[in-house]
Amino acid sequence: MAMKTDVQVVVIGGGIVGASVLYWLAKLGCTDTLLIERRELTSGSTWHAAGNTTYFGPYAEMTRLFAGSIRTYQRAEQDSGHSINFHQTGSVRVATTPRERKLFHQYEANYAALGIPYHVIENERLSELHPCLNTRDWFGAAHTPTDGHVDPSGATHALAKAAQLCGAEIQRHSPVESLHHENGMWSVHTPNGVVHAQHVVVATSFWTRELLQPLGLNIPLYATEHHEMITEDVPELVSSPGEVPAYRDSDVSCSVRQEGKGFLAGIYESQPEFWSLDGIPKDFREELLPQNTDRLMSHLEKLMDRLPAFAEAGIKTINNGPMCWTPDGLPMLGPIGSNAGLWLAAGFNVGIGTGGGSGEFLAHWMVNGQPHFSLPSVHADRFGNDMTRDAAIESIKNCYRKGYRLPESI
Ligand SMILES: Cc1cc2nc3c(=O)[nH]c(=O)nc-3n(C[C@H](O)[C@H](O)[C@H](O)COP(=O)(O)OP(=O)(O)OC[C@H]3O[C@@H](n4cnc5c(N)ncnc54)[C@H](O)[C@@H]3O)c2cc1C
Repeated sequence: MAMKTDVQVVVIGGGIVGASVLYWLAKLGCTDTLLIERRELTSGSTWHAAGNTTYFGPYAEMTRLFAGSIRTYQRAEQDSGHSINFHQTGSVRVATTPRERKLFHQYEANYAALGIPYHVIENERLSELHPCLNTRDWFGAAHTPTDGHVDPSGATHALAKAAQLCGAEIQRHSPVESLHHENGMWSVHTPNGVVHAQHVVVATSFWTRELLQPLGLNIPLYATEHHEMITEDVPELVSSPGEVPAYRDSDVSCSVRQEGKGFLAGIYESQPEFWSLDGIPKDFREELLPQNTDRLMSHLEKLMDRLPAFAEAGIKTINNGPMCWTPDGLPMLGPIGSNAGLWLAAGFNVGIGTGGGSGEFLAHWMVNGQPHFSLPSVHADRFGNDMTRDAAIESIKNCYRKGYRLPESI
């Protein structure tokens, strides 16, 4: 079928974020839409993500994006019949200091207001929930029993299919080459033709900076490497019928969830490596990056002490993939630039956790003239247009190495 040439909204990028925006536009009645994807859906970071979708966080309004995400994926699953494979394992964020435990208590009111189950628990309860953890040095944990993980690819396809069932269209294998604004309309140029649209949503993750540079926009998005490790089967998990909760630890700077009968760990190392700072290679498709686990070793040593079964199991797979970052670690959502109709939905380092809710946030803004709740900390124009590359990189480094450390105050 020939690509449409005139639509109300073009969404560029078919990762979980672009698919979520397309879905939510359709749910809010905007179906004269076309999503344009360079290759196949999920061909950026989405296909290799671990799929963690936690509710834990110090900021209530950000937690709304997380909570909205699981709700969105579940709704898209119902609408499309396409499985998102949600595992409702719950999560535990361990208190490595008395200060962390105190902060966990401060967050209780946020969760009560949002109607999300949240409990500060003792080490004894933690051991019941996750018998593999060595709780010796901890001060209990925060437990969010109703979050977990989804299949990122399944969730993206569920969103896309549900949007298509409402009338949205998707054009694959069409890299957008350039964008132009003429007579109040946008023209989107691809090798398959030009599409005219009133609105363009750019959901192209770490490709965004280069795509928007010719419009005079300086978008401070860069990619770091990020490793995840999957172990062989763990005897304690093999003999257990259920699934242990995901475990997060600010001292190890890691997140570990069950994957089959083994563990899957993601580490935020203290010396992050950037990837392709000078521009995404033209021949990059969606492949993984070479592994470099040396810089993870000090974190892994701590992890093996906290989770001895991880050490005993042996590593089966290591994935190193590019991860997109903004200077403050939060996504960029909303209008951008001086010409009306250009919107950003990019800069996601936990896009599975927040993509569903972010699509809802942006679609409400586009359709109703304002988002359905206030969250200025994600507004796309918050960095201005003058941030230098060095400043952006330094801020991203600090965000990445901060891992799961909590802010001093909220
Ligand atoms: C190892 C690893 C594990 C992770 N685990 C988790 C996790 O457990 N939980 C979590 O929340 N996050 C996780 N993440 C992060 C998560 O993968 C990303 O935040 C998320 O996938 C970003 O989604 P996106 O749609 O913004 O970008 P992408 O998935 O990168 O999608 C962007 C899309 O835009 C397309 N595109 C780019 N340029 C163009 C163009 N010019 N024309 C047309 N299309 C274009 C690309 O082909 C791509 O499909 C992980 C990341 C890594 C590296």
